[in-house]
Amino acid sequence: MTIHALPAAARRAAALPLTAVAARADLRVENLSLRYPGGRAALTDVSLDLGPGLLGLLGPNGAGKSTLIRVLATLVRPTAGRVLWKGRDLAREPDALRAELGYLPQDFGVYAALSAREFLRFLAAVKGLAPRAVEDRIARCLDDVGLAEAADRRLSEFSGGMRQRVGIAQALLNDPALLVVDEPTVGLDPEERLRLRHLLTDLAGERLVILSTHIVSDIEATATHLAVLAQGRLRYTGTPEDLLAQADGRTWQWTVPAAQVPALRQRLAISQSVQRPGGVQLRVVADRRPSDDAEPVAPSLEDAYLHLLAPPVPGSMAAPDRAGRLQ
Ligand code: ADP
Repeated sequence: MTIHALPAAARRAAALPLTAVAARADLRVENLSLRYPGGRAALTDVSLDLGPGLLGLLGPNGAGKSTLIRVLATLVRPTAGRVLWKGRDLAREPDALRAELGYLPQDFGVYAALSAREFLRFLAAVKGLAPRAVEDRIARCLDDVGLAEAADRRLSEFSGGMRQRVGIAQALLNDPALLVVDEPTVGLDPEERLRLRHLLTDLAGERLVILSTHIVSDIEATATHLAVLAQGRLRYTGTPEDLLAQADGRTWQWTVPAAQVPALRQRLAISQSVQRPGGVQLRVVADRRPSDDAEPVAPSLEDAYLHLLAPPVPGSMAAPDRAGRLQ
């Protein structure tokens, strides 16, 4: 399929300029709340102030990440609060952001019979990009996501990771200043996840890239800023370093006999357990030394995330007995 085979309405759609360099991002979310009809609150009083860089939007399933992203993508309206893009209110001027938005939804589907290039031609026309510059732009976007060689292969032959990269290529067509990517690593193998991580890091720069995920390693070492959601509320916003600092001096490691692990799980927030020849090596986040044998270790972002979200474990704050063990 070519652009010229598309309906005239798509070709007549407003021609967006193809800017060479994305304009500086500036996104403010003010006291945002959203309740789905008949449901409970999906977002409650969320505020964020974001400039260029890579925001890791982190939270367990059901935390409200997709809902927040759909508000930012101007697909749903909040019940309360507002979003400002470069000072302009989305409720009144959604097009101010739409022209500068690239969006990869969680359920992105491709037309498997088309090649990557044909598919992007189709979407470029639907998005109303000026036909004159479109072929160059498509080639550039496919190159940016590492698919230049595969551009003319059918999408039915693409792996899951390659399809996600096509999804990012389509989101880049208008050289967006805001790129929003919803859980892109789901179903990808470790190598493809790593590749996607590197790609999104490269795409940040002057842009704001928002990457939602429930997997800490997706944003560890790449996010310049974090926002952690749980049950619709913002539990943390700031740098990864500041979140790490919150778990400093509260992360412990020691090895226990395997038989003790189930009981310890009942009363400790265990971030990692690894089988070792002498037993099971535990990594635990706790405000106090959880066992005489436990040694303090430098926290990982996973530990800090657990420390932020783990509910207080019954007994974990119990005073140690005379032998230094928790009762
Ligand atoms: P996440 O992306 O973090 O997994 P979601 O934003 O998808 O979270 O969901 C947040 C909450 O809103 C969940 O309780 C979910 O069941 C609910 N929810 C999501 N979409 C809808 C919808 N269209 N209608 C009603 N409830 C919804």
